[in-house]
Amino acid sequence: MALQDDVTQDRNLRVMARWRSTARVLVEALPYILQYDQKTIVVKYGGNAMAGGVAADDFAQDIVLMKQTGIDPVVVHGGGPQIGAMLKKLEIPSHFIDGLRVTDQAAIEVVEMVLTGSINKQIVTSINAAGGRAVGVSGKDGNLVVAKKLERMKLDPATLEMKPVDLGFVGEPDKINPEVIRAIMKSELIPVIAPIGVGPKGETYNINADTVAGAVAGAMKAERMILLTDVEGVMDGEGKLIPRMTVSEARKLIADGTISGGMMPKIQTAVDAVEGGVKAAVILDGRIPHVLLLELFTQHGAGTLITA
Ligand code: ADP
Ligand code: MG
Repeated sequence: MALQDDVTQDRNLRVMARWRSTARVLVEALPYILQYDQKTIVVKYGGNAMAGGVAADDFAQDIVLMKQTGIDPVVVHGGGPQIGAMLKKLEIPSHFIDGLRVTDQAAIEVVEMVLTGSINKQIVTSINAAGGRAVGVSGKDGNLVVAKKLERMKLDPATLEMKPVDLGFVGEPDKINPEVIRAIMKSELIPVIAPIGVGPKGETYNINADTVAGAVAGAMKAERMILLTDVEGVMDGEGKLIPRMTVSEARKLIADGTISGGMMPKIQTAVDAVEGGVKAAVILDGRIPHVLLLELFTQHGAGTLITA
């Protein structure tokens, strides 16, 4: 009998401890929920983070939970791997200059279809399935992202002169008209943006999704911009995670080549956004389940934080 009581008491203590730690997690979130109330947070969901598949439901739940706590989330998505796969399937050949894909007329049509038709609707559907109400737009809707052709220069080894490189329909934001996003947010809906821009003659431009996220965050004077990717964050020369850095430190790492490839547009846009009035930008590992909630509502800051 005495033994039985001990077992019961032991179990009760364990149950209590579990309750207490669950309650602690919820209470820990309170100051953050108050801090972010009615603040705009732009989240870029990377093509690579997305291609994993499993994380999509977690991501959707996190966005819905953010919305329900009073945050105004704005989602911007990428789609590089999915575009590459579709171009291959349709047997549209890709040309590269210095590792950069040239987007010709045939390719831009596929890019727009994949981004606005397929990926955008997948994300809208998963947010809605998680109990939210999302609306998808591209940069063409409401002239959200007016774009110009991206100017790239390249050293010509023969003449040692810098020459422009023609990447086709690859653009950069020229002007952001955020009214359409404001209208969607005012209706308690969650905007989901495909990184397509419209040129002055109505032409279609593919824009790096990180760059679109930064430009939208700047125009919306967002509290935060979060870039979800498939690495832990920004790594230093020895491959160690850099937990936080200032704008000037970020510039140094770009100049000395520590930051390269797909991390470049992220850091450049983070620097621009922070200088343009966004309070902070964070690069997060989208492979971690519910990383958005962990970042926003707990004391465990993950990834790399960039501030002024
Ligand atoms: P996404 O689909 O999320 O935009 P990208 O492939 O475009 O992903 O960008 C992330 C990639 O940037 C990483 O997988 C990594 O290969 C590369 N990268 C280059 N320099 C760094 C760095 N210093 N720290 C972390 N990642 C880096
Ligand atoms: Mg990228």
